[in-house]
Amino acid sequence: MNKFNFDIVIVGGGISGSYLAHKFTLKGLKTIILEKSNKLGGRLSTKSVGSNLADYGCQYLNPYTKELKKLVKLLEQKSLLHAVEIEPGKYVYVSSYGMNKIPQYLALGVPVITNELVKQIILRENRSCKVITKSLSLNTKLVVLTMPIKQVSSLLENSNIMIDSLPKSRYKNFYTSTFISRISQYKNIVNLNQDMPWICNNTLKGLRNKEVVYTVNFSDKISEDLAPLSSIDRKIKIKEILHNHEFTDVNHISSHYWKYAYNREQKNRNYIFDKKRNIGICGDSFSVGRVDGAVKSSELIFRKIISSL
Ligand SMILES: Cc1cc2nc3c(=O)[nH]c(=O)nc-3n(C[C@H](O)[C@H](O)[C@H](O)COP(=O)(O)OP(=O)(O)OC[C@H]3O[C@@H](n4cnc5c(N)ncnc54)[C@H](O)[C@@H]3O)c2cc1C
Repeated sequence: MNKFNFDIVIVGGGISGSYLAHKFTLKGLKTIILEKSNKLGGRLSTKSVGSNLADYGCQYLNPYTKELKKLVKLLEQKSLLHAVEIEPGKYVYVSSYGMNKIPQYLALGVPVITNELVKQIILRENRSCKVITKSLSLNTKLVVLTMPIKQVSSLLENSNIMIDSLPKSRYKNFYTSTFISRISQYKNIVNLNQDMPWICNNTLKGLRNKEVVYTVNFSDKISEDLAPLSSIDRKIKIKEILHNHEFTDVNHISSHYWKYAYNREQKNRNYIFDKKRNIGICGDSFSVGRVDGAVKSSELIFRKIISSL
C-alpha cells in the first residue's frame, strides 16, 4: 500500500503548475494542485465584464521556445487557441474563451483544491514531506513550488528551509483595469499612450463578446497615484483618466493590482530540484521568463524528476 497521500503536491495553479500536473498525471503519478486563490489560472486570468469576458493578465502567446511552441500546437488542435494578426505581419495566439481556459484544460482530471494558501512545508527523512495549509496537511513524496520567486522565498522562510542560489527576478507591477466602452478612438487590437502603455480590445482580439471590452495597464506614475485610494475613489479616478483619453461612455469598470506581473528579460537557471530534500522549484522566475520561461522551466523540471524516480 502506498503510505503517501500523493506522489506530487504542486503549489500554484497557473500555467506552470497545471502544465506540470498534466504531465505527471499522464505518467500515472498521483498529483494534486493547491491554489491560494478561488480559481485556476494564475496570471492567465480572465474575468466577466457584464455578460462579456476580458483577459486581464497575459493577453496572448507569442511562443519562441520549442517547449511553448509544442504546447501551443496541442492547444490549437484542441481549439483552445487560434492565430490572430495583432499588427500587420505579426501573428500571436489567443483563446476565444479566455486565457484562463489553458490552465483549466491542462488540469482536467487532476485534483485541484482552491482557496488553499500553502503556509508551510515540512521536509522529513525517508523521502517524504508534509504540505500544510490552513485546513489541510498532505503527505507527499515530492513538492514543487511554481509561484513567483518572492512568494517562494517567503514560503521557504516560514518553513525554515534554506535553498541556495534562488534566481533573481525583477517583476513589473501596475494597476490594470477592464471595462466596456461604447465610444473610443482606439481602433487597433493593441494601442498605447503615455498613461496607458497597454490598451487591448478583447473583442477585436477574438474573445466571444457582444460588446467592446478593453483591458488597460496603467503607467508607473498612474499606478502610484491609484495605490493609496479607496476602491470607490480609485474607480472614480480611473473613470476620469479613461475620459481624458476619449473613452467617453464606459461602464463595468473594475481594477486589479499586479504585484508580480511579468519579469524583465532574464537568463536565469531553468529550475531548482533538490532530490535529497524532495523539493522542486520552477515557474516564470526561471529560465527565459514570462510564459515561455514558465513552460520551459516546467518541462525541464518534469524531465529531471521523472528521470530521478
Ligand atoms: C498584465 C500581464 C501581462 C502579461 N503579458 C504577457 C505576455 O504578453 N507574454 C507572456 O509571455 N507573458 C505575459 N505575462 C506573464 C505571464 O502571465 C506569466 O509569466 C505566467 O502566466 C506565469 O505563470 P506561472 O504559472 O509561472 O505563475 P502564476 O500564474 O503566478 O501562478 C502561480 C500561482 O500560485 C498561486 N500561489 C502563490 N502562492 C501560493 C501559496 N503559498 N499557496 C498556494 N498557491 C499559491 C498564485 O495564486 C498563482 O495562481 C503577463 C502577465 C501579466 C500579469
